[in-house]
Amino acid sequence: MIYLDAAATSPVRREVLEAMWPYLTGDFGNPSSHHTVGESAARGLADARAGVAAWLGCRASEVIFTSGGTEADNLAVKGIALANPRGRHIVTTRIEHEAVLESVDQLVRLHGFTVTFVPVRRDGLVSPDDFAAALRPDTTLASVMLANNEVGTVQPVAALAALAHERGIPFHTDAVQAAGWLPLDVGALGVDALSVSGHKIGAPKGVGALFVRARIPLEPLLSGGGQERGRRSGTENVAGAVALATAARLSSDGLTARADAAAAARDAFVAAVQAAAPGASLTGHPTSRLPGTASFVFPGTNGEAVLLELERRGVISSSGSACAAGSEDASHVLLALGYPEDVARTAVRFSWGPEVSAEQLAAVAPAVGEAVRAVAGLAG
Ligand code: PLP
Repeated sequence: MIYLDAAATSPVRREVLEAMWPYLTGDFGNPSSHHTVGESAARGLADARAGVAAWLGCRASEVIFTSGGTEADNLAVKGIALANPRGRHIVTTRIEHEAVLESVDQLVRLHGFTVTFVPVRRDGLVSPDDFAAALRPDTTLASVMLANNEVGTVQPVAALAALAHERGIPFHTDAVQAAGWLPLDVGALGVDALSVSGHKIGAPKGVGALFVRARIPLEPLLSGGGQERGRRSGTENVAGAVALATAARLSSDGLTARADAAAAARDAFVAAVQAAAPGASLTGHPTSRLPGTASFVFPGTNGEAVLLELERRGVISSSGSACAAGSEDASHVLLALGYPEDVARTAVRFSWGPEVSAEQLAAVAPAVGEAVRAVAGLAG
């Protein structure tokens, strides 16, 4: 069996589990407690915060630990928009993760916000000109993801953030899928807020972080004991924070070389799939894309059926984003890119972590060809 659904989730790395273990057992304390048991937990949390800050190139005080990418996105979108007195207008795209889209929708429904969705090209890119045209004097927040979870397109975030800043508008990016593949230096990206999630990079599900620049006002979503400097109440998930920091450090070591090797393997895989399954068309941008994602449409088939045929051949993939799993709807991302609904329903996404070799990927292509023929034969 080969697991090619890393964009949905990844296994916990052994080093990460070992780093967490003390904080689940001996150093189990509550970091707010004023005794030695609490203090050792507080030290672990502080070290984890410093580790995540080093990963993101920010101050430790600018890191807020959350329960994952969804919460980080919710806190960024609602927390920044509600705290900003400039107005009630949001700029984003239709290819964002649901955590951003539904947060924006809530601001519209409950708080009288309006939203402008910047058009997205067929290859998944947002044009800086279109983005600039959407910004208004009453825009309180712009949010554009760094890398898309379905098609893998990587956006020109630094350019977009600079345009927002020219107008004094805070800029958030969802970097959940970019983590582990791209450097996440918030200074170089020029963003004011950035979301990450542990389970995409070898930490457990249920932990993430939001970077928010010190000068950006933030309305908390969770009220209570005032943890995380009052920005996110709730007893801290110390072991989770340690896991996130450890996974971040492991994923940063040798990042460029690993990403380059994976990109070469990806390109060979894409060519092999297109040879094995004529008619297969890669979605997303041909070059500005994640090294570990290749998503195709296979016109004349059905993505779910291809997925099942692939699983019978030992290949685990996804028919879209697992975050929307259970829904029979065509991918909102592919529809936003302009794919007709019947073609969008033929999508299959392959995504992998750095541990998957070029040889393993290459060996999958014939199975893709067989699966597509099996389904197309049935359909025909
Ligand atoms: N943002 C993106 C781009 C994602 O791909 C995901 C999950 O797949 C999330 C946010 C949500 O993260 P989490 O599963 O940690 O809530």
